[in-house]
Amino acid sequence: MAKVVVATLDTICKSIQGYYPDANLDLVKRAYEFAERAHSAQKRASGDAYIIHPTEVAQILADLRLDISSICAAFMHDTVEDTGVSLEEIEKLFNKDIAVLVDGVTKLNKMTFRTTEEKQAENFRKMIIAMSKDIRVILVKLADRTSNMRSLQFLAPHKQKAIAQETLDIYAPIANRLGMSAVKIELEDLCLRFLHPDVYYKIAELVSKSKQDRERHIEEIIHLITDKLDEYDVKAQILGRAKHFYSIYKKMERRQLDYEELHDVIAFRIVVDNITECYKALGVIHAAFKPVPGRFKDYIAMPKANHYQSLHTTVIGPTGERTEIQIRTHDMHLVAERGIAAHWKYKEGKFDSRSKDNVEWVSRLLEWQKDLSDPNEFLETVKVDLFSEDVFVFTPRGEVKELPYSATPLDFAYAVHTDVGNRCVGAKVNGRIVSLKHRLKSGDTIEVITSPTQTPSKDWLKVVKSSRAKAKIRAFIKTRERDAALGQGKDLLEKTLKNLELSLTRLEKGGQIDAILRDMGCKTTEELYVGIGYGRFNLEQIVLKLIPREELEAKRAKLKIEEEESFLKKTIKSASKKSEARNAIVVEGVDDILVRFARCCSPVSGESIIGFITRGRGVTVHQANCPRALDTDTERRIEVRWNTNLAAPVKRAVRIRVLSQDETGLLALMSQTITGCGVNIASANIRTTKDKKAIAVFEVEVQSMEQLNRVMSALESKKGVIAVERS
Ligand code: MN
Repeated sequence: MAKVVVATLDTICKSIQGYYPDANLDLVKRAYEFAERAHSAQKRASGDAYIIHPTEVAQILADLRLDISSICAAFMHDTVEDTGVSLEEIEKLFNKDIAVLVDGVTKLNKMTFRTTEEKQAENFRKMIIAMSKDIRVILVKLADRTSNMRSLQFLAPHKQKAIAQETLDIYAPIANRLGMSAVKIELEDLCLRFLHPDVYYKIAELVSKSKQDRERHIEEIIHLITDKLDEYDVKAQILGRAKHFYSIYKKMERRQLDYEELHDVIAFRIVVDNITECYKALGVIHAAFKPVPGRFKDYIAMPKANHYQSLHTTVIGPTGERTEIQIRTHDMHLVAERGIAAHWKYKEGKFDSRSKDNVEWVSRLLEWQKDLSDPNEFLETVKVDLFSEDVFVFTPRGEVKELPYSATPLDFAYAVHTDVGNRCVGAKVNGRIVSLKHRLKSGDTIEVITSPTQTPSKDWLKVVKSSRAKAKIRAFIKTRERDAALGQGKDLLEKTLKNLELSLTRLEKGGQIDAILRDMGCKTTEELYVGIGYGRFNLEQIVLKLIPREELEAKRAKLKIEEEESFLKKTIKSASKKSEARNAIVVEGVDDILVRFARCCSPVSGESIIGFITRGRGVTVHQANCPRALDTDTERRIEVRWNTNLAAPVKRAVRIRVLSQDETGLLALMSQTITGCGVNIASANIRTTKDKKAIAVFEVEVQSMEQLNRVMSALESKKGVIAVERS
């Protein structure tokens, strides 16, 4: 573990002068004094003066060579939250830049990431947004967390565990993603100490017990490597040390090993002047020691997303042990240790970010979170980016794309462009056609095959690995579902209103729909339709906003009579005109006779039927078991059957009555179920009862009993539906 020197205003000023000789140290001193005064009444959990904590935070940032504003903000980061200090005061006494940073950290402090999963996701999203505004806020926060982790032992045990877990889940990965390996390593080791103290102390004990042996071994190897490099005139600084405890722990866990079985707990680092020397050193090492196949990685040619660059190799050392070696330049070493902070360069009195890519990563996350309304989806999405190992693949033109481990051609297609992803039907990997599920390997060259008619499907979410592809597919599906809901919702409202002799178009023009939008909190009519389509809005409630209940009920009663009358008229009219019924039914022995379907039972094609001669009205067709038909004189019976020679099956209007719980969205769900069976809805009506039930009556057009049964059982299977019957 890193040795921690006690930080003081003096050590901080010295550090700053080391990288920024003309720094305005007066500002730094004033920030320190201001914080000391503000916190004077406060003690830390350890019993120490509180100022020790912000001083430690400022020191960590000075070691990262951050700018004066960040260091001043570090001193004052807890003043607004813990003391009576206001942001206005800080802005007046110092400047806006510092006040904004303090504000950002104060806001981040209000988040706890350890309640429910959902809350954690939402907070994580806020953190990303904070980062995107000013990455220095996160750097101050990381330093704050590091300082807090260093004195975690003074808190209650349950708090220790919670804070350590949160640090391991959120802060260490962010430090890693920002390339700050020194901070990451310290955080991980401290987490291990509090989360698995038994493991931590066991490793610590074993590492220190074998210390003498190990140091001798390290000396030996450094000596050997130095000799070999000297032969080839490669000037290098060689470091050997035990790996950090957390990585030893992960290795033991991964390989199910005991410490005694672990040999490669030492890692060597060769630091040289330039890239040419890096490869030269690698050649020397590989010539002197046997490299382990498959362990060489060139992160110089293909840097990691966090800008990390090095050559990694594992060789069989002189004692026959596997030995990991990293080779890098001094510049690369700086970036590896400090990450994004190493890119802050002094320029015109301000620090400026030389490399934009890490900032770009943050703004990319920000862009995705706009596409994903569900915070859990977002967390799942960014987790991939924080934790996965990468593969590097090429476009046909030789451009490098970086994708997460086990990425597929679909991930690649989305990395090229969203449209390419949406239309991807396949790919050629190194010239060979592969399936969309094919796993890409580093070095593959990929050519995407697209089709203009292709669209993404939900199954693709199981295929892709990258955050970008997932976010884009989800966004596409969401839009498509929304469009469908919009159409369905509008249709449903239109039909319901038409039933009540109201016209949607006229209500829109008359402004009545606008009033409903206001009531329902919708900005546009589309939003209203979508709400109905998704079943978020209760249609009956909307209708009741347009017509008072008494009027609605009167209208419905009146319509029922009219409907029956018109139905009768229609039937007679159609019967007299060689109607559908006439065609659909064969009356045995009689050719030219009027046929109509009985209103009472409304038989459907395929059902057992029976006919009655009605004076002056021809033949009426009933279901064979219709009670009304059974009452009729047997003399008037006449045998009828369905005409099976029709070109198209005859569609029959049937009423289905559904009793259900009175739940928002159930009507929309039922309509979707019916149309999902390929059946048209002629009308829909719903009323609610006093005991919180709803009765919906649908008039549907079915062409067979089989189809009717399918619709009814589909409705029956829906949650909240109590009974379904023909009426
Ligand atoms: Mn703090």
